[in-house]
Amino acid sequence: MNRLVAGFVLAQAIFTASVLALRAPGGAGVAGNLVPGEDPSAAWEPRVPLRSGWTHVIVHHSASATGSAAHFDRIHREKGWEGLGYHFVVGNGSMTDDGRVEAGGRWLEQRDGAHAKPEWNARAIGICLVGDFEKSDPTPAQVASLEALCRWLCRRCGIPPANVVGHGATHGNATLCPGRRLDLGALRTALAR
Ligand SMILES: [Zn+2]
Repeated sequence: MNRLVAGFVLAQAIFTASVLALRAPGGAGVAGNLVPGEDPSAAWEPRVPLRSGWTHVIVHHSASATGSAAHFDRIHREKGWEGLGYHFVVGNGSMTDDGRVEAGGRWLEQRDGAHAKPEWNARAIGICLVGDFEKSDPTPAQVASLEALCRWLCRRCGIPPANVVGHGATHGNATLCPGRRLDLGALRTALAR
């Protein structure tokens, strides 16, 4: 490789790295950011071949007023986990845009989640909406983004809308997650249309 070519390759590598850095706020391996209205197909597509065997989508709330993929990534690493336990995070305008969908590393690399009981983590895609839906409603933008994301996931992974469930439904109702103010029945009805 001559010097000119080497220089070009280096410049290209720097450009690629800077683009990736822009797409990965907080170094959380987060990419695929999306706000409602944008085309999700490219942003949500994993970086590796789609795993077969995703059977369910489990919806969570963060039970906190604020959050983002980078924020939860840090908290989960402090617990000794391999980064963000959810596959997706839907922001509420606190630490990311209202309704913004962030795809985490576990989705982009098609790894098991760390968001539910062990028997669910290998087959259920975990989505966390920022907020405490026992105390307050999800924002309209969050509800719209959740529906768009679930619609895409159901189609992409062949998951029936009936298998989009709340965390409590997979946990013997031992958790209030994702909160009574998030209407998953309405979501499933919308997805089935
Ligand atoms: Zn949960």
